[in-house]
Amino acid sequence: MKDVTIIGAGVVGCAIARELSRYDLDVVVLEKETDVCEGTSKANSGIVHSGYDAKPGTLKARFNVEGNRLIHDLSRKLDFPFKENGSLILALEEEGRAGIEELLERGNKNGVPGLRIVEKEELRQMEPNVSENAVCALYAPTGGVVCPFNMTIAFAENAADNGVVFSFDTEVKSVEKKTDENGAVYYTVKTSDSSIDTRIVVNAAGVYSDVFHNMVSGKKLSITPRKGQYCLMDKNAGSLVSHTLFQLPTKAGKGVLVTPTVHGNLMCGPTADPADGPEDTSTTDEGLNTVLSRGALSVTSLPRMTITSFAGLRAHEEGGDFVIGEAEDAPGFIDAAGIESPGLTAAPAIGVHIAGLVKDMLKPSEKKDFISTRKGIPSIALATDEERAALIKEDPAYSKVVCRCELVTEGEIRNAITRTLGATTVDGVKRRTRAGMGRCQAGFCLARTIPILAELLGKSEEEIEKSGHGSYYLDGEIKDSF
Ligand SMILES: Cc1cc2nc3c(=O)[nH]c(=O)nc-3n(C[C@H](O)[C@H](O)[C@H](O)COP(=O)(O)OP(=O)(O)OC[C@H]3O[C@@H](n4cnc5c(N)ncnc54)[C@H](O)[C@@H]3O)c2cc1C
Repeated sequence: MKDVTIIGAGVVGCAIARELSRYDLDVVVLEKETDVCEGTSKANSGIVHSGYDAKPGTLKARFNVEGNRLIHDLSRKLDFPFKENGSLILALEEEGRAGIEELLERGNKNGVPGLRIVEKEELRQMEPNVSENAVCALYAPTGGVVCPFNMTIAFAENAADNGVVFSFDTEVKSVEKKTDENGAVYYTVKTSDSSIDTRIVVNAAGVYSDVFHNMVSGKKLSITPRKGQYCLMDKNAGSLVSHTLFQLPTKAGKGVLVTPTVHGNLMCGPTADPADGPEDTSTTDEGLNTVLSRGALSVTSLPRMTITSFAGLRAHEEGGDFVIGEAEDAPGFIDAAGIESPGLTAAPAIGVHIAGLVKDMLKPSEKKDFISTRKGIPSIALATDEERAALIKEDPAYSKVVCRCELVTEGEIRNAITRTLGATTVDGVKRRTRAGMGRCQAGFCLARTIPILAELLGKSEEEIEKSGHGSYYLDGEIKDSF
């Protein structure tokens, strides 16, 4: 019998796994995809929200503010990229001032530190390229940008280093509530190829979390996926703004944001469209044009330098708030459901809270040898000359550049594949190292990454996939053209 079975290895499932790994518990994470961070956690704005937006008293408000505070510390402990660049919410017309004041009041009620309204002149000094139409803004200094992939991967690696088992390509098909001979409730989780008895189930299945909740509870949840589309721009456009610029919604519609990413690109989005089901992450001409035309309202001139576009799905629950905690009529079944925005920010706080619930139920002892830190993959692009020399001395593979756009070396790629929960796909390498994330979008490095994956995984090049589920690139050998 497992102690805890977590469904879903997105940022929420991985944050919970990391917090549970402090205790002497038998924990497994079941994930239907080939890697962590394959759902909504890979396709969002990457903003660490300060917490002015959510209605006071909601779970969104509480976990947003707590999560923001935790990320500051965790980014150092678990070595993932985070920058507190501050957010500005722009009023693009005088009528917006009341809305800005309302957000200030709401943020103060939520306990967001340092909020203040900045007027036109100061706004121009803070952001020289802000639109002439911006009359004032709410400044949230604790807003930030994070790498959503590396944050999720960091939680998962640290959890695995502390004994949590991750089972990929394992789709949960059903969850059944049962009672043992002593009258204690437990669950049988049936997957694509196994059956697991477990004392506690944690439901962190993103846009599918209503499905699992509804299998065990009479109090039904209903999640409607809502799509958000984005344009990601070249690093040459990355210095257009230094803060994250949000727009106060106007009569013309809900605004989109313009932000530098933590890696120095510029990003614009998202839309808010109905999705054609929980797997519909397609982009459309109309959606991307909306992103660019609305984004252009925030700045004097929005560069047309898109290098890629993508869409993510918000897990919107009918009640409008996060659903977090033990289901009323299913003891030991814990939901982390309906985790739409600000779920990335909130995830570490949700992790702490749910680990607390499990601790109260199972009363486990704390591990004496808990490893609280984790070291990320060294980045040649960010290293000083001395650090580069030391890395290359230790391993000459750090001198061989594979991805020219992002300056990623063979040493980094080898590290990404061979470390705890290492990459097994091209996308896995990309999210861990940034190889393929640059201007040419893997046009150059793909043909180098595939042979390294094949060598280290003991596979043929034809067997290497983009992201699992038969997403092969090749049906013949790569010509040796390097
Ligand atoms: C457009 C958009 C923009 C956003 N921007 C921000 C932002 O800037 N800041 C912020 O804080 N938040 C933001 N969010 C919200 C944030 O991205 C999400 O709240 C967060 O990623 C949700 O994480 P999760 O782990 O709950 O879900 P997911 O990442 O979707 O993880 C769920 C996992 O469960 C797995 N799963 C599902 N069904 C099964 C099954 N049957 N068996 C096994 N595994 C299964 C999935 O494969 C998936 O990996 C945004 C969201 C969207 C859509």
